Amino acid sequence: MKLHEYQSKQIFARYGIPIPKGRVAAAASEAKAIAEELGGRVVIKSQVLVGGRGKAGGVKLAKNPDEAEVLAAQILAMEIKGLPVRKVLVDEAAAIESEIYFSITNDRAARKPVMIASAAGGMEIEEVAAKTPEKIIKVHIDPLLGLRDYQARDIAASIDLPREYWKDFSKIATGLWQVYSQNDATLAEINPLVITKDKRLVALDGKMMIDDNAMFRHADLAEMRDVDEEAPAETEARKYGLSYIKLDGSIGCMVNGAGLAMTSMDIVKLFGGEPANFLDIGGGAGSDKVAAAMKIILSDLNVKAVLFNIFGGITRCDEVARGILVAMDEVKPKVPMVVRLVGTNAEEGRKLLADAKMITAETLADAARKSVAAAKGKK
Ligand code: GDP
Ligand code: MN
Repeated sequence: MKLHEYQSKQIFARYGIPIPKGRVAAAASEAKAIAEELGGRVVIKSQVLVGGRGKAGGVKLAKNPDEAEVLAAQILAMEIKGLPVRKVLVDEAAAIESEIYFSITNDRAARKPVMIASAAGGMEIEEVAAKTPEKIIKVHIDPLLGLRDYQARDIAASIDLPREYWKDFSKIATGLWQVYSQNDATLAEINPLVITKDKRLVALDGKMMIDDNAMFRHADLAEMRDVDEEAPAETEARKYGLSYIKLDGSIGCMVNGAGLAMTSMDIVKLFGGEPANFLDIGGGAGSDKVAAAMKIILSDLNVKAVLFNIFGGITRCDEVARGILVAMDEVKPKVPMVVRLVGTNAEEGRKLLADAKMITAETLADAARKSVAAAKGKK
């Protein structure tokens, strides 16, 4: 789950990371009122769950409350990378001396969290990473020992941070480590962490991602989920306990079991197709869950064919078949569907589907080949 900037920064503040004063507004008049409270210059920032808002025109400086109102109205009418802006953060503006990039994320290959920093922070960080990777400093953190003081100093030295800021930087590094580890984050990022003209370190931007599998122990974070800003299919999938990830291909995949789902996607690619999604309906899925899954797959307009690959173990193939029939009745799909059922009650399942005009397949390879052909409009 992604958190908004304002949510991330509120969490940062609890761990002693300095953030600018500010509040969130859903209307331009509210933004003006906040600007009046703060006095002086403010920055109006779109709250959408994608990066690159600045480049997209979603971050603007206002000299006074009237200008804040005008800019907030403009930004609240924007769409950034397909997401409508529903809220803006109004922060007191900082006078920036320089911008630092600072984050912690998982390094899967190293099986450790990694702290990443660069003196070349700000909106061009992707460019910096691509063209001058030596400007990006990485230090792994032992998850059992946590961040050590010397590591924070090491990073400060490596990014040529002037000595006078080291003490504050260490505190921010420790805070960021606590933010990351205590909230089960997969990313805690400050970009930019700025040095202001009056010589303070302030987190101007904040971004956090929380591991969905750990959400059960963070009721306070779960409440922060902004369903309005999520793809509706993802919200729907979570409601039914389905693991669903939308992809860019044309073959919808409905599979039980994560490993089988990945295998199915691989084999679809092997036969020249592209999967439209990863979807695991899980073990023992009943017909309602199957119907929900099918509706989610078919709500993606890129889907040109659907592949059902069900291995009946705990999941019963006849239950899955019933779910497919329920969903077909409701959704009336127009795309071809290829089904492979094996395992528990497969025979009953096939009988149920016999009249449903589905393409049947015996093996996984056969199913993949047929769905790729069907997606291309061939028999
Ligand atoms: P992002 O583009 O989504 O990462 O949004 P950021 O919050 O990082 O803002 C983008 C850029 O706007 C920053 O890198 C800064 O250069 C600039 N910016 C943000 N807040 C302020 C501010 O308070 N004062 C000034 N002068 N610039 C700001
Ligand atoms: Mn940023």
